[in-house]
Amino acid sequence: MPELPEVETLARGIERVIVGKKIEDVYVGSDRIIRDCNSKDFFTSAILGCVVEAVGRYAKYLIVTLSAKDRRLFLIMHMGMSGQLRSSLLTGEELLFDRHSHLRLGFDDSSLLAFYDPRTFGRAFVDFEYDLRLKRPRSLAKLGPDALEANEPLERLLSGRERRTMPIKFQLLDQSLIGGIGNMYGDEVLFHAGINPFVTFGDLSPDEIGRLRVAIKAILSKAIELRGSSLVDRGYRDVAGELGGYQMLHNVYARAGKSCNRCDATIERVVMKGRSTFFCPGCQGSGELTPIDSQRLSRPIERSANHIDIDYMTVSPINLDDGRSFGSVFSSAEANR
Ligand SMILES: [Zn+2]
Repeated sequence: MPELPEVETLARGIERVIVGKKIEDVYVGSDRIIRDCNSKDFFTSAILGCVVEAVGRYAKYLIVTLSAKDRRLFLIMHMGMSGQLRSSLLTGEELLFDRHSHLRLGFDDSSLLAFYDPRTFGRAFVDFEYDLRLKRPRSLAKLGPDALEANEPLERLLSGRERRTMPIKFQLLDQSLIGGIGNMYGDEVLFHAGINPFVTFGDLSPDEIGRLRVAIKAILSKAIELRGSSLVDRGYRDVAGELGGYQMLHNVYARAGKSCNRCDATIERVVMKGRSTFFCPGCQGSGELTPIDSQRLSRPIERSANHIDIDYMTVSPINLDDGRSFGSVFSSAEANR
């Protein structure tokens, strides 16, 4: 966390406030945030005076393309567990100068962009090389295809021999196989596809693989549309300091003990490798999928410890434009629109 939808939201947010501007000031408050670079001097001198050409994203990485006099380089940021970006053009100054704003860029229009990260798992680094074949900076070459953009069949990405015994949940989280999915969206994707998180890829039927493929794109796209998920323990907010909205549509993540929106069984939480997995033991992996109850899907936000307490918000059910068996999962939501 933040995962692909949150990083995409941040990228789109800063794009409109920094593209075309020149970096005139660089403040690095903590060496930890630039730990992938040689030194503070190296990092600062690389980006100082550069003009922002473009802002993009690959997997969970935010990529700022910079041009200097004689070269092009990339400022790459990973938000870690709690990283946020704030622009002085969109929000007040309180966070920009907070002691946890470890990196701050000043632009030629006097605006500021701050990388705020209380837990400092986030990081920023520069890359001078671009991989033309992979179409991304070389430092990101080891990542698998982007979960939203990938056109490769899942069979090619996930069915490697050495991974045969790995639960499907952990395959989805392995950034070298497929990039951008984390713990939260991994659980939501598997719920929507009706797949038990602890089976292996080899256990899945062709129908389940088809549902998984559709669920990955549908869930991530809808989460981008709603500007990500804001949970109180991770504190995600967009560049303007606003909350995301996709937590309203969570069916399993951080819902242990609550009843399933599809089958009324109780959502369970299992901890594996130090990470929580939330799933429904009733309808994930049981074969036939009944529709999700649309009334519950657009329920008021639950007052659980993990969810931010915000007022009721109307959200439309997830749009499906693909997948014959997956369509049935949402048929009641679609019908009630
Ligand atoms: Zn269920």
